[in-house]
Amino acid sequence: LNKPERGDYESHGIKKKANEKRSTVLRLLSYTAPDFILLIIAFIALLATSIGEIFLPLFTGKVIDGIVVNKDYNEFTHAITVMALISAGTALTSGLRGTLFMIVMARLNIRIRNCLYSSIASQDIGFFDCTKTGDITSRLTSDTTVMSDSIALNLNVFLRNSVKSIGYLVLMFKLSWQLTIVTLIMIPLVAVVAKVYGKYYKKLSRMVQDTLALANNVAEETLSSMKTVRSFAHEIKETAKYADKLHDTYLVKLKEAFAYGGFVVTNRFMELTIDVILLFYGGHLVLTDRLTPGNLISFILYNLELGDALESLEAVYTGLMQAAGAAEKVFELMDREPKITNTGRLMPGNVQGQIEFKNVSFTYPSRPDVCVLKNVTFKASPGEVIALVGPSGGGKSTCVNLIEHFYEPTSGSILLDNIPIQQYDHEYLHNKVAMVGQEPILYARSIRENIAYAMENHCTFDKVKHAAVLANAHKFISELKDGYDTEVGEKGTQISGGQKQRIAIARALIRDPIVLLLDEATSALDSESEYMVQQAIYGNLQNRTVLIVAHRLSTIEKANRIIVIDKGTVAEQGSHLDLLAQNGLYAQLVQRQLLSTNITQDDE
Ligand code: ADP
Repeated sequence: LNKPERGDYESHGIKKKANEKRSTVLRLLSYTAPDFILLIIAFIALLATSIGEIFLPLFTGKVIDGIVVNKDYNEFTHAITVMALISAGTALTSGLRGTLFMIVMARLNIRIRNCLYSSIASQDIGFFDCTKTGDITSRLTSDTTVMSDSIALNLNVFLRNSVKSIGYLVLMFKLSWQLTIVTLIMIPLVAVVAKVYGKYYKKLSRMVQDTLALANNVAEETLSSMKTVRSFAHEIKETAKYADKLHDTYLVKLKEAFAYGGFVVTNRFMELTIDVILLFYGGHLVLTDRLTPGNLISFILYNLELGDALESLEAVYTGLMQAAGAAEKVFELMDREPKITNTGRLMPGNVQGQIEFKNVSFTYPSRPDVCVLKNVTFKASPGEVIALVGPSGGGKSTCVNLIEHFYEPTSGSILLDNIPIQQYDHEYLHNKVAMVGQEPILYARSIRENIAYAMENHCTFDKVKHAAVLANAHKFISELKDGYDTEVGEKGTQISGGQKQRIAIARALIRDPIVLLLDEATSALDSESEYMVQQAIYGNLQNRTVLIVAHRLSTIEKANRIIVIDKGTVAEQGSHLDLLAQNGLYAQLVQRQLLSTNITQDDE
């Protein structure tokens, strides 16, 4: 009996959407709260400007009546003087209002960007795996700009034109109630057109933003992997792909342009009709002595001004909807709860550096259907060098990612000194456990600044040098023309892969970590660099636990223990000789001499 009709759901949905929009706009407005005082001053300036402007057409009519009807010098010079004073006053208050609103707009934009950026920066790595950088930067740049500019601009326009519209209507009634009624009959027509258009325009503007984000993604992907693109000679294909995406944007923009054109035509046509009716009826009132010519001119001017004010108010609606569209996307990202919250507070004075995997299973959030690690259990004792080896795609780097707490295991636990790593303070854990990735990213700064990264200003040159010595990087850095002040290019392209890795090792060591995780570069290292890195690991890093994802036999055979990871499980573990004697997977890998080159059997 009480089964709801389909329409109930629909109307409920629409209501909910309208409420959501309203609350989005309200929330957006709440971000201007810290600038309350500036806004109040701006509002007073706005009110003064609007009230002044409201009286200008009235005095224009008085000038005309003074000249044409009463032919009175005093009357029209008085009216002209008042007009001049009002104009000068409103020029000043208008300038003040504009400046203050622009300041509020800039402050609002910075406030929103800061909030959004802090939320993005706290997201879990899984989020970054699933979200394209282009989408995030488009939220951070264009969407925040649209929302802050639109809200400040539209707030300004809304207040100004509401005050003006009310003022105009009051004075219009005083001049001629008959003509005012004609005007009022036409207003709802204009409003309906504006509402329909506003809805459509919002949809289109969201589509434009989305298609632009897609085009940006393509460009970013290509620009950040120019070497790969070049090596496949894919420049033309990539350019065509970008052009395709831009064309999609163009098609939506074209729709937007036609929608805009259609609206302008309809609107102008309606304005014209109102003007003709008013002139005709107004002329009749003047000819029958029920209205002075000056009053008719004042009324016509008011009507034009009212039209402009209402048009601006319609634009406020679409502008606010545009801001709401952008704000919805920004707030969605701002409100996202990170899957991993760094709530651990443990900061023991001393850590030994024992790492233990206990029945760890794991699935990447971006690929929920693939179980990458299955019940992985192993232990690395303090001071041990452990080599993680095995076929590509087996899960070695994943183990390293989990120790870094980039992700949390689906089940099982990872312990540092017998305590789950989640329980440690975020910063503390990353000071104690440092990682050097396979292709470390260096920043476009000097080598010294790169090594001192994350130490900010608390880092002396001696510390930088000491870390570089431990990483076997000091010698080559000293031989560079500018030594430690050598600027490394964007993403460190001006130095070799091996040098880059040693700088990255120095950057990791400067925090004096007790556990060092190394994802050995498979091909980036020449044999000289490889030797230097090995020297660093086996010669300089004693007393630290080192887990190295290793591909080269020379690195592996010296490790205290080798853990063979295959298809997400620990297949074997032991020393080089033990494992050879077992004659299992490791022995096979060695025999196939895959270890001395790269293990690429699963790469295809
Ligand atoms: P290895 O280091 O042994 O070569 P990985 O740990 O890199 O292996 O990868 C194990 C598996 O997890 C592979 O199938 C790989 O495609 C997948 N994988 C690695 N990183 C991610 C990621 N960020 N998102 C989804 N899947 C991933």
